[in-house]
Amino acid sequence: EKFKEGLTKTRDSFTGRINDLVARYRQVDEEFFEELEEILIQADVGFDAVMKLTEELRMEVKRRNISDTKEVQSVISEKLVEIYNNNSDRSSELNIQAEGLTVILFVGVNGVGKTTTIGKLAHKFKEEGKSVLLAAGDTFRAGAIEQLEVWGERVGVDVIKQAAGSDPAAVMFDAVQSAKARNADILICDTAGRLQNKVNLMKELEKVKRVIEREIPGAPHEVLLVLDATTGQNAMIQAKTFKEATDVSGIVLTKLDGTAKGGIVLAIRNELSIPVKFVGLGEKMDDLQDFDAEKYVYGLFA
Ligand code: GDP
Repeated sequence: EKFKEGLTKTRDSFTGRINDLVARYRQVDEEFFEELEEILIQADVGFDAVMKLTEELRMEVKRRNISDTKEVQSVISEKLVEIYNNNSDRSSELNIQAEGLTVILFVGVNGVGKTTTIGKLAHKFKEEGKSVLLAAGDTFRAGAIEQLEVWGERVGVDVIKQAAGSDPAAVMFDAVQSAKARNADILICDTAGRLQNKVNLMKELEKVKRVIEREIPGAPHEVLLVLDATTGQNAMIQAKTFKEATDVSGIVLTKLDGTAKGGIVLAIRNELSIPVKFVGLGEKMDDLQDFDAEKYVYGLFA
């Protein structure tokens, strides 16, 4: 239900337009496909994924001898899910350790919803009965530490921090020691989101990761990149940059509730082969949902 509600904007425009298309065309012909491609591209599905999708649709229409556009509609949903799932070289489930500490590192540029997502995820873990600790690793942006503390209080988890401007790697070292001493289950680490200088970003992330790994072999267990769904191509460019800078294990796509272009989920998956692990569907604590391609696509057409 939450999922459906959060996708209202995308459903109203994208799905509405597809329904309209299907109603207007009775025959599946080239013009139908061209209009369909246009709609998908405008929903940010991404050129490459759109071409893949319509190519397969064309073949399927021929193979099954479909001439009725209504029938094509269900094949579209099928193919959307297929395209998403076929690109799964990595699981969309979080890599949580059965025993001991799990460390999750968050990366992403300012304003995308990184702090909010960390708060939401901490809340989710707490609800599951896990003990959670946050690390204020964005020592660069003014107010970042305080903002994380606000979320820490709201959710009821402690935040390990140092003074603004201090070395993020030192904060991580502290945080890992605290997490170990307290026998915490989950440590969620914020990082600075400076993209202006890719080399610096890379160096900072490398250093932070090295400190964590030295203390806990195999950690960080997840590196989650937060992207703002409302920024379309910009989100894609950020994803490519971060992918080059570090080993991103999953994506959190925020503000899906605020865009009619929810197709970006498919574009990201298709072009980057990184699974979307969560989607943000609002500003509140429980507005974070596990991402499930089937639920997503069928939610759009429901
Ligand atoms: P950060 O700079 O990346 O840490 O971004 P913040 O966590 O401060 O979020 C920036 C703004 O986006 C805030 O006003 C959040 O409430 C809002 N926001 C974050 N996630 C979502 C979401 O999933 N949906 C909506 N509608 N707003 C969100």
